[in-house]
Amino acid sequence: MDFTLSSEHLMVQKMVRDFATKEVQPTIKDWDRRQAMNPDTLPRMAELGILGICIPVKYGGQGFDYISLGLVCEELEAVDTSLRVVMSVHMGLNSLALLQWGTEEQKQRFLVPQAKGEKCAMFGLTEPGVGSDVANMSSTARRDGSDYIINGEKMWISLATKAHHILWFTKTDSTTKDPHEGITAFMIETDRPGVTRGDLHGKLGVRAGSTGWVNCSDVRIPKENRIGEEGEGFRIAMSALDNGRYTVGSGATGLIRASLEASVKYANARKAFGKEIGKHQLIQQKIAYMVQKYEAARLLYLRAGWLKNMGLRNTRETSLAKWYATDASFEAANDAIQVHGAYGYSDEYDVERYLRNSRGAIIYEGTSEIHQLMQAGYALGYREDGALRCELPAYDPQVWQAE
Ligand SMILES: Cc1cc2nc3c(=O)[nH]c(=O)nc-3n(C[C@H](O)[C@H](O)[C@H](O)COP(=O)(O)OP(=O)(O)OC[C@H]3O[C@@H](n4cnc5c(N)ncnc54)[C@H](O)[C@@H]3O)c2cc1C
Repeated sequence: MDFTLSSEHLMVQKMVRDFATKEVQPTIKDWDRRQAMNPDTLPRMAELGILGICIPVKYGGQGFDYISLGLVCEELEAVDTSLRVVMSVHMGLNSLALLQWGTEEQKQRFLVPQAKGEKCAMFGLTEPGVGSDVANMSSTARRDGSDYIINGEKMWISLATKAHHILWFTKTDSTTKDPHEGITAFMIETDRPGVTRGDLHGKLGVRAGSTGWVNCSDVRIPKENRIGEEGEGFRIAMSALDNGRYTVGSGATGLIRASLEASVKYANARKAFGKEIGKHQLIQQKIAYMVQKYEAARLLYLRAGWLKNMGLRNTRETSLAKWYATDASFEAANDAIQVHGAYGYSDEYDVERYLRNSRGAIIYEGTSEIHQLMQAGYALGYREDGALRCELPAYDPQVWQAE
């Protein structure tokens, strides 16, 4: 086992850390208060190549590996979760699904502009009536000649009002014995007639991001926009979640680190009972737990990233990395507020935002309960991952960096 990051990893890490700390950190509190996304964020992430970081160069990306994606997410979320959410939907849930399942023609049409950051992408699985139980979705697609007509509404969609493409999951057959087999995936351009969308306000966290709804009313799309075969949508969605959850787990690791760093700084400065609060053992205990959580979360996501690089199935390991890191980031942010006392309760300091931002990740991309069911299922022998028709390609530097 080699835990050393390569010079490419360190370069990517530094580039993203500089962007997040120098360009985002100074104004993030204002955007969070305004409950709006800074319009410069996506163009700047595109310009820096972040939106195509682990996509092969020949598809418009930067050709870095999957561990680089994890490092990017850790750095982004150490400053604000809204930045990492962009990577979760644009890269983890959409672009990597295209790399895995798309035809060559679909990669040229959709993946290339996404990797270059000319177009931004999102993921539409959740509906007003279903989240975890996706097989019971009510969105429909019916064939009309060589087109499909899509109807339905997706809810809680990250980048709802910002993205140009949505990977939309819908029922094409409601008569299958297993309802999972009746779902199909489509790529829908959001400028098609019949697509409407809006943002939700009043969220607990990720306030500097866009979360909303997308509605399709008789939206006509050609069959060339269908990703995979009819009935393959559930498998595509679950494999996309293997990548989305990786970004959530690595991002949450960054949030633990941010909570730890803020707590260490404060504990070394604030005095109580004649000494720095860091000298009190109960404060030390909180700091120690944050260190423990950070290191464990980091190892779990690096293992998942390594499995991806090797082209090995990682559903089980990625689920564990996501479940552990998201629960741990909430606990770390909560402890960070405690370390800061009353000041932690105010938005004068960042830690209250960390706590609010950490909460959503315990719900999206599989609630903690769903991950517990998965982990118990694997351990008990109830659950096993079969081979997929299309697997996520292993990282091969020669192929990925070739023009
Ligand atoms: C900020 C944010 C961003 C999001 N972005 C996206 C996005 O971009 N795209 C997208 O498609 N979705 C997105 N979501 C939606 C998210 O994926 C869903 O909220 C999530 O899957 C849970 O679904 P639900 O909210 O309908 O809860 P439900 O599935 O209704 O669950 C409610 C509760 O019941 C529990 N529960 C459900 N089934 C079981 C069971 N079998 N056993 C035990 N407990 C169970 C759940 O764990 C939960 O505690 C986002 C959500 C948030 C908050």
